[in-house]
Amino acid sequence: MNSKIEKIKNEDLGYDAFFESGRRELESNDFSVARVAVEYKGAYKVRNENGEYLAKVTGKQMFESSSREDFPAVGDWVTITELEPERAVIHGILPRKTMIKRKHGKRDETQIIATNINVAFVVEAVGRDYNLNRFERYLAIADDGGVKPVIILNKTDLISKEELDLKIAELKKRFGDTEIIATSAKNSEGLKELKARISKGKTYCFLGSSGVGKSSLINELLGEKVIKTEDISLGTNRGKHTTTNREMYFLKNGGIVIDNPGMRGVGMTNTSVGINNLFDQITALSKKCKFSDCAHISEPGCKVLSALKSGELDKGKYLNYINLKKEAEHYELTNLEKRKKDREFGKFIKKAKKELREHGHKNY
Ligand code: GDP
Ligand code: ZN
Repeated sequence: MNSKIEKIKNEDLGYDAFFESGRRELESNDFSVARVAVEYKGAYKVRNENGEYLAKVTGKQMFESSSREDFPAVGDWVTITELEPERAVIHGILPRKTMIKRKHGKRDETQIIATNINVAFVVEAVGRDYNLNRFERYLAIADDGGVKPVIILNKTDLISKEELDLKIAELKKRFGDTEIIATSAKNSEGLKELKARISKGKTYCFLGSSGVGKSSLINELLGEKVIKTEDISLGTNRGKHTTTNREMYFLKNGGIVIDNPGMRGVGMTNTSVGINNLFDQITALSKKCKFSDCAHISEPGCKVLSALKSGELDKGKYLNYINLKKEAEHYELTNLEKRKKDREFGKFIKKAKKELREHGHKNY
């Protein structure tokens, strides 16, 4: 138990009937539950109504894992046993409600950004690097994870009211009825609206490239400047200088927000579902194409292309659709190769277990 931090009820940390039934199914009555608040290299900070713990997964769980998704991520509810004050082991992950993922690295690995998110704030800054296509990518990622997105247009202090109105009209045209909040972390414009959007016990994830002002907005919500490379203050040097990827913050009014520092770009995972939802207009048109497998690039009788020609379909939106589709297809190919590797890894584990049994290790 940790007396230094403010106590928060599990319910206000997001625990509800969904997770409780997941816990019952896992038959983990002897364990407590806690939520993963920070991910370090090889360890986690988890939190529950008793306090916070530095936690590690059990050897058994590592042994049974075959992919990154089998490991806890920020936002997960996990079952734990308290070992000593402020230390715990993680036994398992309760079924996830939602999961936001992205592709990263040269080998197209899937990275979990956060789980059990209620709303994703997709942040973009007006100004030099303003980029609608990037917006669309983050929206597709939220959509694919089953998470409702809200668009945050930040740094509005840099443009005039007229320019802002134009930008908002442009966003409405492109993204339909997705909610938009215009903010400035500098002069607190729109902060009230943003705060009003956040409720107790719900979890919000900030998505967007670095530099758009995610941390500044979270600091505004927290009402203080929170140092990002914080000491995990568990009486050890471990983790002190680790750059944390993601971190959960607890707002005074009860909302929970997750920052994603260092998110330079955003890769598409197999978000074909997300892409199709986001591009409802194109999906609807493509149903009327002459060929059912129409790629909407040069095919005769393509209704997408004719809508593009007539101006009914926005050109930027069309081009982004084609690009995102290409990326998602590429990802699905490489993912096939990855699954093959996972299968090989599974065989390796099976063989290792067999050998352990043969050497008298009954538990395997
Ligand atoms: P993050 O990488 O998305 O977390 O972005 P930061 O919060 O670190 O902000 C990046 C830079 O933009 C910093 O220099 C901030 O001071 C600045 N910034 C953030 N929000 C605003 C804003 O609303 N207006 C202006 N003018 N600058 C901002
Ligand atoms: Zn077509």
